Amino acid sequence: MTALDTGGSGRIAADEPAIRALEHAFRGELVRPGDHTYDRARRVWNGSIDRRPGMIARAAHADDVVAAVRFARRSNAMVAVRGGGHSFPGYSVCDDGLVIDLSAMNGIRVDPEARTARVQAGALLGDLDRATQQYGLAVPSGIVTHTGVAGLTLGGGLGWLMRKYGLSIDQLLAVQLVTADAEAVAASATENPDLFWGVRGGGGNFGIVTEFEFRLNPVGPIVVAGPIFWPMSESPKLLRFYRDWSNEAPDELMTLVVHRRAPAVPYLPSGVHGQPVVAVISCYAGPVDDAETVLQPLRRFGSPILDLCAPRPFIEHQAMFDLSYPPGWLYYVRSSDVASLSDEVIDITVDHAARIVSPLTAFPIWQGGGAAARIADEDTAFSGRTKGNTFNITGIAADVSGFALEREWVRGFWGELAPFHTGVYTNFLMDEGDDRVRQAYGEQKYQRLRALKRTWDPDNFFRLNQNISPLPA
Ligand code: FAD
Repeated sequence: MTALDTGGSGRIAADEPAIRALEHAFRGELVRPGDHTYDRARRVWNGSIDRRPGMIARAAHADDVVAAVRFARRSNAMVAVRGGGHSFPGYSVCDDGLVIDLSAMNGIRVDPEARTARVQAGALLGDLDRATQQYGLAVPSGIVTHTGVAGLTLGGGLGWLMRKYGLSIDQLLAVQLVTADAEAVAASATENPDLFWGVRGGGGNFGIVTEFEFRLNPVGPIVVAGPIFWPMSESPKLLRFYRDWSNEAPDELMTLVVHRRAPAVPYLPSGVHGQPVVAVISCYAGPVDDAETVLQPLRRFGSPILDLCAPRPFIEHQAMFDLSYPPGWLYYVRSSDVASLSDEVIDITVDHAARIVSPLTAFPIWQGGGAAARIADEDTAFSGRTKGNTFNITGIAADVSGFALEREWVRGFWGELAPFHTGVYTNFLMDEGDDRVRQAYGEQKYQRLRALKRTWDPDNFFRLNQNISPLPA
């Protein structure tokens, strides 16, 4: 496995004319070491990442992105591209090189008649939900509202609506993108269709997207959603029940299972705080009355400690994990898909869940299937549509003390699940090397992506990502 070079060799050349040209062309903000906004601007979600770029170009317009790419090419700089800054391995910041930061470009235009939304690449999921839900519409996206639309969408986009409406990419109509040659191009089903195929799952490999256009679908605004908690001791039986019950679920229902120590939050009885619990979190994106029939067997299973699954605004449910994964804590993640929650997989899960030490560590197991799984695998670069469940084994610590222990726990758990791994989602990878990226796409698709990379980025200019190396010219 080869870890990516995250800078150093891509230092910005001291080319004064090039810097002057950039300053002249750039309408946004150029932040450099020593500037009072530098430390804030280089910070990313994962507090275990601490890199010091040579410059951060905070774009205000697509033309700024063109100017920044031109500058980086001329000065041979390593480039990191930042949307919401939530890359697990911190690929949106580099040492010495140039960060092209789109976070200030967060405008959203909703056309409720046409049911489309044009979304600038710095928007966060919460921005998108707020803009669309006022019309009772939504784009399927992720489960934490401070995540960026850009990185999430380009990897695929798993979330509460994926069984009903597919992944984020399944509702993507078009993108505007700046290529490695600093050209602004469009991609859609009719314009540069190969590129459009590649950006739907190929991450930031093919260029910098400045704007997304999504199709919107009706959602809520009230959905039946929320967690039901049991003592973790009930997990072996609960997971076996859940496996069968969730397999029969309609597309409207999406669930996650989370094992953790109960957080000290007011809505949980104080006697439970710190105790190991397991929760099934549901979101029923269909008529409220129908939800009850579907959810009743779950509510009645075993002896729940607390049932908070109730009608609530979709927008509120979207934010339920926000405080469990805040920016600045230290995160270590290993992920994999498994074909099903077999008895062996359940036994391993229960065993490692019981060993959670950190009060912050909480790992979700995602339900698969539904609309996302019915789209043909070859239709988009994203792979792994037919997976059974996805494990996000996440070790969390508020500071460095205890982080090593969390990492060890993650690796041990993930390693034991290895015989059951069927694939992995690129957006849930850390910096795990070429083989894992290959594994994520499968060999045939990976070779198609390499050929596409040769067309659009033959020098591998965009390489601080889950990198697809271009086929040789
Ligand atoms: P950034 O760190 O800004 O970007 C990540 C990478 O995406 C960059 O390195 C770059 O390669 C690429 N990129 C970003 N912007 C652009 C652009 N405009 N053009 C081209 N390339 C670009 N994933 C899910 O599918 N569903 C979830 O529910 C989900 N929940 C998450 C919750 C949290 C708290 C976190 C940290 C991650 C979650 N993820 C989820 C994973 C998430 O999809 C990835 O981390 C994604 O990369 C985040 O996008 P970003 O724009 O915030 O990240």
